[in-house]
Amino acid sequence: MLKKNVHKTICSYCGVGCGILVEKDAKGVISVEGDPDYPVNKGMLCSKGKNLNYVAQDLSDRILYPEMRWSRNHPMQRVSWDTAIDRAAAVFKSIIEKHGPDSVGFYVSGQCLTEEYYLVNKLTKGFIGTNNIDTNSRLCMSSAVVGYKKTVGEDAVPISYDDIELSDCFLIAGANPAWCHPILFRRIEMHKEKNPNVKIIVVDPRKTQTCASADLHLQILPGTDVILFNAIARWLIEKKKIDKSFIKKHTANFDACKESAFQLSIRQAADLCGISADDIRKAAQYIGNAKAFISMWTMGLNQSVIGVSKNVSLMNLSLLTGQIGKPGAGPFSLTGQPNAMGGREVGGMASLLAAHRDLGNPHHRKEIEEFWGGKPIKSEPGLTATEMFDALDSGKLKAIWVICTNPIVSMPNAHKVEKALEKASFVVVQDISHNSETTKYADLVLPAAGWLEKDGTMTNSERRISYLPKVIDAPGEALPDAEILWKFAQKMGFTGFGYNNVSEVYDEHCLLTKGTEIDISGLSHQRLIKEGSFQWPVPHNTHKGTPRLFSDRRFFTNDHKSHFNAPHKIYNQSEKTSPEFPLILTTGRVRDQWHTRTKTGKVKRLLTHIPEPYLEINKVDAYLRQLKDGDVAIIKSIRGQVQVKVKVNFDIRERVVFLPMHWGKVLNNDFGRANNITNDLVDPVSKEPDFKYCAVEVVKYEKP
Ligand code: SF4
Repeated sequence: MLKKNVHKTICSYCGVGCGILVEKDAKGVISVEGDPDYPVNKGMLCSKGKNLNYVAQDLSDRILYPEMRWSRNHPMQRVSWDTAIDRAAAVFKSIIEKHGPDSVGFYVSGQCLTEEYYLVNKLTKGFIGTNNIDTNSRLCMSSAVVGYKKTVGEDAVPISYDDIELSDCFLIAGANPAWCHPILFRRIEMHKEKNPNVKIIVVDPRKTQTCASADLHLQILPGTDVILFNAIARWLIEKKKIDKSFIKKHTANFDACKESAFQLSIRQAADLCGISADDIRKAAQYIGNAKAFISMWTMGLNQSVIGVSKNVSLMNLSLLTGQIGKPGAGPFSLTGQPNAMGGREVGGMASLLAAHRDLGNPHHRKEIEEFWGGKPIKSEPGLTATEMFDALDSGKLKAIWVICTNPIVSMPNAHKVEKALEKASFVVVQDISHNSETTKYADLVLPAAGWLEKDGTMTNSERRISYLPKVIDAPGEALPDAEILWKFAQKMGFTGFGYNNVSEVYDEHCLLTKGTEIDISGLSHQRLIKEGSFQWPVPHNTHKGTPRLFSDRRFFTNDHKSHFNAPHKIYNQSEKTSPEFPLILTTGRVRDQWHTRTKTGKVKRLLTHIPEPYLEINKVDAYLRQLKDGDVAIIKSIRGQVQVKVKVNFDIRERVVFLPMHWGKVLNNDFGRANNITNDLVDPVSKEPDFKYCAVEVVKYEKP
């Protein structure tokens, strides 16, 4: 039984989704600790989660009132909510009247709660009449969404965290969970400590902290993942380490997978990947001999110009070995953000429709149109993240509404994004913090309530839906994002937004899922509060949830089989290196920072780990450039430059360098912003940017 002043909630950082107990004392001071009863973390929290109380109580950077400027030459001034919403509606109406509904767009975040995601999606697709609603989740897992749809017929993660303790082989590719999903990785480590026969294979051009627990580190050249996975597939097929019965009964397109896998010999693949053929065979052996095999991946596969090919070639390994729909097995895409999965449920992307319905399917569109009672929904996908900023630059998009994300720091080719926002006719930024550099480009700033200041739901990486209660009041005049959205919709004159609370929004979302693969019509806020978290689907109100999908080996495809896919591209299609830019830059996260540091940057304790941006460079490359550890270097690409200190080691491959992505301005300039130099090439299907590969050169900084 919880004490009256203790509340159960969920961490607002990563997609692991740890349970937190928040205690509020008599003076209103908050403390946090891991929830020992929550099935995800069983009381554990990582450094970021442990320090959430500081973030929640530090109001120094908070946006307290709506602020507005009448034109770009005028300063921002405080206004009332009525004035702010009137202005937003008036400008949106006038732009839509003049240029049509596709001249406006919303760019939102995987940190939004499901109810907020649902509302902005309904507002945009169902009432404004454009599909221009996309999210920063496009930057982290849209390639996995496409991979799952192609393989199992739906964007559906088949397994649970509880499968970790039932598995005896993990292939962790393009991910550093020891730093980026720490509590999940701790579960893998503890499982291996108890069961030394458990094998961990890590695929990464860098020797990260995750490699410390690995039995095998495949330090491949960036962009060669598909070649590696195909080589493993070839070995499994040749050595008859495949599940023939599963393939025959429950899969389609095996021949396409085989043909793709046999394009290269294992020796050729090893040469192209820059690793030994024996190591490829060893990895394949671990997988082929496993009783239960889990593949796990994040940005290293997803953030690629061939991200979908990387995803399907990895998923092929689970299908070949029949390692899906059974205990301890399956392909497991880890989400980076706390509610990336919830956003996918409500169709919160330009290419998706609510409740996992298909935007291209006229029957699905009709169902949603009738349910919402709004305008006809367009069949063509709207502008995706990078396309939205391109369209602002070209003038096709006139107005953008940014919610809870900081594209000025997080988008690739950041100077282009700055230029695009300067060109926009009208920019609305709805956020909690002035620390977001994007607020500087806003014509209208709307103060949003933050974590603990509003209620709603989130879904973590294992499809687990949890309720987050309101514990404290929002500062100043900040409002919950959902309330801001429904006030705007009402002002626009749209019906169907007369909500009294977010519980009503959630009920509507749940009802819309009825009869679909993600049916959660058995859920409500009340049930989540009373009974705790559930994994979807939860099709009726006594259903206990679904920890594992496909136990019956019936997949969500039309033929109910899982589908092998020949990767569209085997060879990388990224920007080419050249004599001028001979090194490959890859970007990523560090342990104690989160996204663009609008929250973690405020916590002194988190700055003790890595206080400033840096470039990781191999000793050989550093030597050739006369750089030693701690020197300042300039990293240049065709798009711009970054200036940071170097960390010299042998942990990163030669000709590869790494920059963390979190920093924007350092010492009041943008020299630490990795995205000054990244490129905005995208995967042609998932439209996810190629953050993990661009051509750069590094030179020593000499004081003028
Ligand atoms: Fe929060 Fe992720 Fe750390 Fe868990 S692992 S405490 S969800 S940041």
